[in-house]
Amino acid sequence: MVRYVYAFTEGGRDMAELLGGKGANLAEMTRMGLPVPPGFTVTTEACRVFLATGAEPDGLSQEISEHLTALEEAAGRRLGQPDDPLLLSVRSGARFSMPGMMETILDVGLNDASVQGLAKSSGNERFAWDSYRRLVQMFGSTVMGVDGALFEDVMTRLKQDRGAADDLGLDAGDLAELVEAYKELIHQHTGDHFPQLPAEQLRRAVLAVFSSWNVERARLYRRREHIPDDLGTAVNVQTMVFGNLGPDSGSGVAFTRDPATGRPGLYGDYLPNAQGEDVVAGIRNTVPLAELERLDPTSYNELRAHMRALEEHYRDLCDIEFTIERGRLWMLQTRVGKRTAEAAFAIAAELVDEGLIDADEGLRRVGGEGLARLMFPRFDTSGIGEPLARGIPASPGAAVGAAVFDSAEAVRRAAAGEKVVLVRQETTPDDLPGMVAAQAVLTSRGGKTSHAAVVARGMGKVCVCGAEEIDVDPRRRRFMVGGTVVEEGAVLSVDGSAGAVYAGAAPLVDSAVMRYFETGDRSGPSAELVEAVARFMERADGVRRLGVRANADTPEDAARARRFGAEGIGLCRTEHMFLGERRPLVEAMILARTDAERDRALARLLPLQRQDFTGILEAMDGLPVTIRLLDPPLHEFLPDRTELAVRLAAAQARGTEPSAHDRELLDAVNRMHEENPMLGLRGVRLGLVAPGLVAMQVRAVAEAVVERRRAGGDPRAEIMVPLIDTVEELRLVGEEVRRVLAEVSEESGVVVECPVGTMIELPRAALTAGRIAEEAEFFSFGTNDLTQTTWGFSRDDVEAAFFSAYLDKGVFKVSPFETIDREGVGRLVGIAVAEGRAARPDLKIGVCGEHGGDPESVHFFHTAGLDYVSCSPFRVPVARLEAGRAAL
Ligand code: PEP
Ligand code: MG
Repeated sequence: MVRYVYAFTEGGRDMAELLGGKGANLAEMTRMGLPVPPGFTVTTEACRVFLATGAEPDGLSQEISEHLTALEEAAGRRLGQPDDPLLLSVRSGARFSMPGMMETILDVGLNDASVQGLAKSSGNERFAWDSYRRLVQMFGSTVMGVDGALFEDVMTRLKQDRGAADDLGLDAGDLAELVEAYKELIHQHTGDHFPQLPAEQLRRAVLAVFSSWNVERARLYRRREHIPDDLGTAVNVQTMVFGNLGPDSGSGVAFTRDPATGRPGLYGDYLPNAQGEDVVAGIRNTVPLAELERLDPTSYNELRAHMRALEEHYRDLCDIEFTIERGRLWMLQTRVGKRTAEAAFAIAAELVDEGLIDADEGLRRVGGEGLARLMFPRFDTSGIGEPLARGIPASPGAAVGAAVFDSAEAVRRAAAGEKVVLVRQETTPDDLPGMVAAQAVLTSRGGKTSHAAVVARGMGKVCVCGAEEIDVDPRRRRFMVGGTVVEEGAVLSVDGSAGAVYAGAAPLVDSAVMRYFETGDRSGPSAELVEAVARFMERADGVRRLGVRANADTPEDAARARRFGAEGIGLCRTEHMFLGERRPLVEAMILARTDAERDRALARLLPLQRQDFTGILEAMDGLPVTIRLLDPPLHEFLPDRTELAVRLAAAQARGTEPSAHDRELLDAVNRMHEENPMLGLRGVRLGLVAPGLVAMQVRAVAEAVVERRRAGGDPRAEIMVPLIDTVEELRLVGEEVRRVLAEVSEESGVVVECPVGTMIELPRAALTAGRIAEEAEFFSFGTNDLTQTTWGFSRDDVEAAFFSAYLDKGVFKVSPFETIDREGVGRLVGIAVAEGRAARPDLKIGVCGEHGGDPESVHFFHTAGLDYVSCSPFRVPVARLEAGRAAL
């Protein structure tokens, strides 16, 4: 029979799929002998059954009641027992952490009778009624579906009535009154009563947590984090402990290291006389953990010991939630903590040094996306004066944008293309869309572990929180700081590394990591970080099997790519060399009426192309440079058809005769116009129908090789033919290429031999790769076009047109233009690799589509057995690192 419930004593951290991250780790801590309030976990499997059928899984309530009985026996009290109630917390906990996205219900087990018992057993009547008030409120909104704001309204009215500044100004009697008002509210809105039976409260709370898997903000978070929608959440039912029983109680969040920088040392926030939710919600400002050492040294030292044990046990940075109830420490949660990219590198390096993990494990723990983030610029704050305000540096990086004061406005402006900074007192999960849309998040309350901080760090979004000097007025859409008023739309610069906010747009400077890649310089204030990056880059280079090349079309880009570690050029797009001032020359070639005219035009292009290639071959001396013959439709080099027609018509209307040149141009443009140019006259097709073009380009390559060779260089040009459908196309072009190479060799006396290969970027080419390999000396997958043509998605149109709807509907989790679609496009890659190599065992195979720099896709190309990936110069370090990780 399927089992749906596990006691904390039965689970372990390797059961996260079934018990969720929180449940698995609670079990692990229990097994380690740490002080965890006893409890049990209802599995994700139970949630999946519930979500699929809408009904409670068979046998679940029986299992829950058995575990409850065991819990009660161990505690010596029953759930909701009138004189001394056992109370429970009911919390979500999915496989992947989704902070604050789903529901929690605390104090389950309280009712009209047991609230009296709690008052007696705790000796604190106000506390008992406050707990009951919280339960009715949470249960009413989460389980019974009453709008949470209505409860707030009732509370606000009562506070006004009593002249209380905050809820601490309400006494036990007031809170008892509030409970009655809440119950009435629930009855009014649902026709139902708040359930008095503790077992019913528990059962309904568990099902409500299941349902919260599908609330809007949770769905949005999953989409953003690429978490599958069908995992479901586990539910942890745990004995309540109370951090709000007086000054010797409290709750806190702690990290075994600083999650922003990775520096060792206990780190966190503590809130005396409060429950855990209050800390995370940023309701009151917390004190640093060091303060706890003064307040309660025994608990502090105990906490330190537990955290050391956890870091050694998990061999990683851990974060925890804890509560102290009247001087007794309880561990409520732990997990391997989220961290910034900087911290990920620093921590991995340090754990390797400490011998807790080996170098390969260190490499597994860092990633390309994080590395890319470290290559972003930061602010140059030297000349911009004092910050407007300071806060806590919660998530590093630098961002500039217009201040906005609510999520909807952030979304609206971002959709219109504006960069915005979301400014809030504190954020809640409802602010998630605005946080996604914003460049940075700024809050006036809450610590490094507040919602804003945790979520922003996870997204790699800049965040400064707890900037207490600013007084946010969301209603009037502005904030005050000192004597200054900052209105909506004012530009702010947010420095998430330093925790500062500046008025206006501050200038940006390059990152130390970027400087290291550019110059090899490891010194400076970020030397430790740079050292850690350098070390994992070296490790990755040592283990990777994939080569890494760059897509570059200029000597400057080629040189930069080389500094970044590129081992050649995988794609030099020659069409980029025909733009700008050379465009008229191309136009002349297209418009040529006679062979002589065309030859003249081509002859003028030849030296320019030769010069391009010489520069690139020099920058990449000794390394392969794959030069692709001209690819895009010729009409892209001609004037716009409508503009030209309008110009001619206007001339005629004025009574002037259009010039012969303009008329010819319009004729040519009309002749060459295509409805669907991406599927038209481009790639090899162009080479086969535009006489002299291939010959000119190949000659330019060959002569550049000769020039470099004569200068003592080691040029390694390769010629690549784009957009092949059939081997016949390649055979025809190949003949011409070889003819020109022989010609130049003959003329110069220098033997020029360039491998001739092809792009595989159409499904037919992939499916007939065995035939094509008879002619091709290498393959390079053009996964941009291969994705476009396999899916039938216009690569220039669909992302703006409907991809966001497709992502919303879950048609795919990520754009196939961003991460390779393994199932479809990947299958074609697999076929082409297998058949190509079968026909020609030494066939060299690479990829030069955008996917070459995407971490996830790099892992696929490694598995598919490619020889190299080629990506933009800035992604080269990312690809090197990921290629190394893929090889582990
Ligand atoms: C491709 O199609 O993946 C490719 C690299 O070529 P381009 O992007 O120039 O069409
Ligand atoms: Mg292409």
